[in-house]
Amino acid sequence: MTPTPKYQKAHEQHQSVVSIGKATIGHRHEPLIIAGPCAVESYEQLRAVGDTLVSIGVPCIRGGAFKPRTSPYSFQGLGEEGLKLLAKMRQELGLGVVSEVMCIEQIAVMAPHVDCYQVGARNMQNFDLLKALGKQQKPVILKRGLAATLSEFLNAAEYILAGGNPNVILCERGIRSFDTATRNVLDLGGVAWLKTQTHLPVLVDPSHATGVRNLILPTTRAAIAVGADGILVEAHPQPEKSVSDAAQALSLDDLARLTHEVGLMTAAMKECDKPLPSKIKPIRRQHRA
Ligand code: PEP
Ligand code: MN
Repeated sequence: MTPTPKYQKAHEQHQSVVSIGKATIGHRHEPLIIAGPCAVESYEQLRAVGDTLVSIGVPCIRGGAFKPRTSPYSFQGLGEEGLKLLAKMRQELGLGVVSEVMCIEQIAVMAPHVDCYQVGARNMQNFDLLKALGKQQKPVILKRGLAATLSEFLNAAEYILAGGNPNVILCERGIRSFDTATRNVLDLGGVAWLKTQTHLPVLVDPSHATGVRNLILPTTRAAIAVGADGILVEAHPQPEKSVSDAAQALSLDDLARLTHEVGLMTAAMKECDKPLPSKIKPIRRQHRA
């Protein structure tokens, strides 16, 4: 008999909480923001991001050291040197560190430097990698595959859970569809659906979902409104000079604004979650003649 999937909610209140460094995500905690450059480029770049994160109260930094690039001739990441720079942000600033793992051999190389592994969209169904991540306890952010159904997404998470690692965070990052106006199509209905099916925390990545800097704030607001447990977002001290994904990199000022707005949206959603007093009249909009 097939066992009951470990990702499934046992009851409506059943929600997992996952820790990354000192930060936590899931179960009505304040939404977690994880921000940083697409790729680690230099100490100066990371430290400028890290200083901003500390000043605006964002506890986790992201940055790719091993980069999955469409072309083999594009920058492939700084590798282990990049990991050491990320680890400095933990030592110097106390930030939790998130970085992408692309193959089984990198798990051990990354372990001393990161607090959370990210499995990228292109590796969502790399089952041997998922099994290997199931055998260790560090948290894993699993990104939805470029053309993965939500059921395939949950089954990929199940590989990690079934191996014995309960610390899985799902991340909706947009899917391929017929429309090319945005880089991908952000499936916010899917985020709401996932929250009905699983106790696992769900992140939204508005950067890869839209690919457009100006679309990141509005989609972040919407992500919080549908119940996302956090936001994974790309930011760079000089966005236009970013070696990868420059068009979607937020400036550090924009990142501060995003963080402020996540707080506003969270407060608004708490109001929406309150039961309506029996006598209250619903707010009506004025209709113009
Ligand atoms: C990334 O987060 O830098 C990345 C490569 O994302 P994705 O796997 O979603 O394309
Ligand atoms: Mn990127």
